[in-house]
Order: sequence, then C-alpha cells, then structure tokens
Amino acid sequence: MSVLIVGSTALDSIKTPSAENPRLLGGSASHAAVAASFFSPVRLVGVVGDDFPKSYLQLYKRHRIDLDGLQILPGKTFHWSGEYEMNMNNRRTLLTELGVFETFTPSLPNSHQRSAFVLLANIAPALQHHVLNQMQRPKFVVADTMDLWLNIALPDLLKLLKRLDGFVLNDSEAHQLTKEDNVFGALRKIHKLGPRYVIIKKGSHGSILSGPDGFFLCPAYPLHKVVDPTGAGDSFVGGMMGYLASEKNPIERNIRRAMIYGSVVASFCCEGFGLKRTTRVTRTDIERRVTELQKLTKF
Ligand code: AMP
Repeated sequence: MSVLIVGSTALDSIKTPSAENPRLLGGSASHAAVAASFFSPVRLVGVVGDDFPKSYLQLYKRHRIDLDGLQILPGKTFHWSGEYEMNMNNRRTLLTELGVFETFTPSLPNSHQRSAFVLLANIAPALQHHVLNQMQRPKFVVADTMDLWLNIALPDLLKLLKRLDGFVLNDSEAHQLTKEDNVFGALRKIHKLGPRYVIIKKGSHGSILSGPDGFFLCPAYPLHKVVDPTGAGDSFVGGMMGYLASEKNPIERNIRRAMIYGSVVASFCCEGFGLKRTTRVTRTDIERRVTELQKLTKF
C-alpha cells in the first residue's frame, strides 16, 4: 500500500563544528519520503520554488516517489539553516525563510485521497488538518511536530491529536506538551489527548512506544560517528510508516518491527549531510543493521 507524506520540502544549510553545507535537499517530507521509499510506494505532498534544483527532483524520482502532489511555484523554496554544537545534539536554528510555503494550500489529486497510510510530517498543524480533511477513510494516520508549533499553534495541534492514530514527538517536546518530567507519565498524558499510539523519540537513546499492547523500547543503532543528525526523526517515522504499509499483518503486530526499520534508516541519515548517505543505502544494508540490532537486544 502507498504512504502519503505531507511536510516541508526544503533547502537546508547546515553547519557542524567540522563542516558547512549550504542548500542541501532537506525538509521533513523529503527525509520521510526517501526513508519510506525503501519499503513502499510513496506519494509526496509539498511545494518548492522555481529555484529548486532539478537534480533534487531527480533524486526523488530515483526513489520512485510520486511527485503528482508536489507543486512547483514561482518564488523561493523554503530555506532552513541550523548549526550544531560540539556534542552534535544541541541545535540552533539560524534562519527560516518560508518562501512559497507561506501561501501553500495543497489540493490532493484524487488518487492521493485514497492512500491508506498518511504521514503528516512536521509542518504547521493547520496544513496537517487541511490535508487530513481531504483523505477518504485512511487506515492509519500518524503525525510528527516540533517545538515551534507547540509555541505558536497549540490549539490547532490539540485538535489534530484527536484525529490521529499515532503521534511521534521527541522527549523535550513531550515535556513541553505535558509538563511531565517522567517519560512514561508523559506518554499517559498524551494518550488522553487522543492518539492510540504515542512514540517519544530520545535521539541516540532510541525511542519508546506506548500503544494498545503496552510499551516497546526501541533501540537506536549504535553509531561511532554522527556527521549530521538533521532529519533523523523524519527518517525514523518515514521508515516506520513505509514498513507498516508494506506488510499485510495488523498494525499492532508490525509496529515494533516497523520502529526498528525506522531506527535503522535514521542511523544512515546521521552518517552524512542532509540526504547524502540515505540516498545511497540499499535494502540489503538496511537488513544487515536490523539483524545486528536484533542480536544486540536479545537476552
Ligand atoms: P529533524 O532533524 O528531524 O528535526 O528535522 C529537520 C528538518 O526539518 C530539516 O530538514 C528542516 O528543513 C525541517 N524544518 C525545520 N524547521 C521547520 C519548520 N518550521 N517547518 C517545517 N519543517 C522544518
């Protein structure tokens, strides 16, 4: 089955203590779409300006990502710039230029409206609602978010939570949303806001699922060197949704394994700037790391 992914399609300029890379292919939807494409057909919904490099469109196409829902408008592509501290965890946003995103109101092609799996990747909650309003009885809807929307669009986000099957956020966002220091306490509070499945991401420490079958502690793949973690969270949830859409079993039976696949794709994302490493990965590379993770967590 297909996964419909809406989110930001961006040019990212990223600074780390050792290097600087301007105008890379980025955005929450780009990372998620490439990650999901290893497992299932992907339909991307987003907008770019006429400055968006053709080579980046080719990259989407190489991953067989359906671009019927990607608008190319006169103007500038969304441009985000961030800088990492020495620990490669703390990040500072240097610049956010909305460009063509400012007036983006996606209208989904008919074929897209019937997608079974929907990933509302990080983007303004109003846009996430707008896309969800156009879907015809999706099977599984998951959303991601960021601190910015908790700060400036909380009422929209709270309304969205009531419409979701799953919600994915990182530990600091969970704390911001619930005021809970304890991650399990935060999970319980977020369930009360709507979603049956809640996943809290903890960066290099993995993630925790709380769902109808209880908790699952999903490890991160142990990396010795992180080059650029931008998009790791998007790759995680994209990989997870792609894997879920590829399997016939019910969601409850697959979600743990799907998180492991997401975690592995996220590990590749961290090994290169932007999407440079992820776009060179093969399914065999992914399976190898999944097997390693299996060995590492067996007792
Ligand atoms: P992550 O590292 O998982 O937090 O995701 C980073 C990605 O989020 C980058 O590729 C950015 O282009 C994208 N991004 C940053 N700020 C925003 C924003 N305000 N809205 C949507 N996407 C954003």
